[in-house]
Amino acid sequence: MADGCLFCGIVAGDVDARIVARADGVVAFEDVSPQAPVHVLVVPEDHMSSLEEAGDEDEPILGRLLLTAAGIARQRGIADSGYRVAMNCNEEGGQTVYHAHLHLIGGEPLGGRLRG
Ligand code: 5GP
Ligand code: ZN
Repeated sequence: MADGCLFCGIVAGDVDARIVARADGVVAFEDVSPQAPVHVLVVPEDHMSSLEEAGDEDEPILGRLLLTAAGIARQRGIADSGYRVAMNCNEEGGQTVYHAHLHLIGGEPLGGRLRG
């Protein structure tokens, strides 16, 4: 847990969020400001500030983030129609919360939008 980290606060239950899933070191919750009908954030329970900080030892948790997103997409019924996962990294990547997270967005045609 990193001091002052918003998503560590959500993982710990100190900050309110609509939790979607919690398993295998990963927590998923609804984005507070959804950019599509489905907009879920998937985060590692253990603080990692961004993908830039990840190393080989993080391979399992990074895979689990993707598989969790895919599972939620199936649960929400958007797997066949399609969805997008995106991870913004650092300033020019558009990252605003420095606890690494995958965006799962979908539920409507996404066009060229890449940003989560
Ligand atoms: P980033 O820009 O870092 O890739 O994404 C951060 C995301 O976190 C944004 O989509 C934003 O709406 C979301 N977010 C920011 N603050 C909160 C919050 O307090 N609760 C939840 N659930 N999402 C948040
Ligand atoms: Zn954190």
